[in-house]
Amino acid sequence: MGNNQVGRNFKNNKLIMETKNIKAFGTPAADKSLEQLTIHRREVTAKDIEIEILYCGVCHSDLHTARNDWGGTIYPAVPGHEIVGKITKVGSDVTKFKVGDLAGVGCLVDSCRTCDSCKKDLEQYCLNGFTGTYNGKDKYLGGHTFGGYSEKVVVDEHFVLKVPANLNLAAVAPLLCAGITTWSPLKHWNVKQGSKVAVVGLGGLGHMAIKLAKGLGASVTLFSRSAGKTADAKELGADEVIISTDAEQMKLVKGKFDLIIDTVPYVHDVNPYVGTLNISGTIVLVGYLGGLEPFLNTVPMILGRKSVAGSVIGGIAETQEMLDFCGKHNIVSEIEVIKMQEINNAYERMLKSDVKYRFVIDMASLKN
Ligand code: NAP
Ligand code: ZN
Ligand code: ZN
Repeated sequence: MGNNQVGRNFKNNKLIMETKNIKAFGTPAADKSLEQLTIHRREVTAKDIEIEILYCGVCHSDLHTARNDWGGTIYPAVPGHEIVGKITKVGSDVTKFKVGDLAGVGCLVDSCRTCDSCKKDLEQYCLNGFTGTYNGKDKYLGGHTFGGYSEKVVVDEHFVLKVPANLNLAAVAPLLCAGITTWSPLKHWNVKQGSKVAVVGLGGLGHMAIKLAKGLGASVTLFSRSAGKTADAKELGADEVIISTDAEQMKLVKGKFDLIIDTVPYVHDVNPYVGTLNISGTIVLVGYLGGLEPFLNTVPMILGRKSVAGSVIGGIAETQEMLDFCGKHNIVSEIEVIKMQEINNAYERMLKSDVKYRFVIDMASLKN
């Protein structure tokens, strides 16, 4: 359990922080299934909030982390960064929340708060490295952070979000990662009424990208490998679906888009999508991390002033803006609620793109 000790946390025999045992679900190694285990959470300090987790979304990043796809996973790994719940305790200096409030926690639980990025509300680009909700460096207890597949979480109020009360709480959970990860590039690249946006891949991120782009007034095209998803995509708000493996269909959208959000998790050929960008258009990769194969051809980029960019989640203020927008426009995720004990099967289904369109864990099941 890293440096985290049961019950209380000591350094040189001096008590530095009270902790409590928390039931969680995680994996002891990359090739093992997830199972129940016990982790430790700090008792609230002055600025902290303790949240009883009611629902936690299942992101493809949870699976990448559990299986060490990116390298660097520290075990035991407890994934989960689409957290919603009810506040059970607040520290003495907390001002934004009170006990009983609904609250959300996304992918970030800390950052340096002093660097240029943090000062600009871009905590996700903290120059000193943000603290991930899981697999991050725990500044309080030592060891690493544990995510939302657990009974409770303790987070500094700066990193806690207010959840719109009018929305289905379980369906709000995926907004905390899938929502903000697609909202942030839509806003950064100034998507508005009349923009032409395309989304690659209809999964957790992809379906939120369609809903949010549509909510901002864009016309939206989905690129999918799966012909079976066409009707769903249209229901979600897509104006058009292009089967990306069909060269004839790809020709129909040559030079069309201002912005493409590519959510595909694994290495894939980005060149055909660059060809569908308008002059000065941008394709933003938010899924796959690593070297591209085949290589990017610079010719269409240079001759059309096209950009290939990347983006990671979003800052706290921007996440609140997205949640408020969703509250106002009644936007939530399409979800399939599962029990905690069904997570291993859910990961297998996610690998087959067999999710409509986000698994959300009912955390009450962890109490059983
Ligand atoms: P997901 O629900 O599994 O959806 C991914 C979709 O991509 C699938 O539904 C499928 O759509 C398509 N796809 C899957 N494998 C493919 C392949 N080999 N080739 C082409 N298309 C493929 O995953 P997600 O939760 O949306 O996450 C997507 C990626 O974003 C993951 O890699 C995740 O780690 C990453 N992520 C990044 C950030 C960030 O801040 N940048 C935040 C969260 C997640 P079709 O069936 O329609 O083709
Ligand atoms: Zn995520
Ligand atoms: Zn910083």
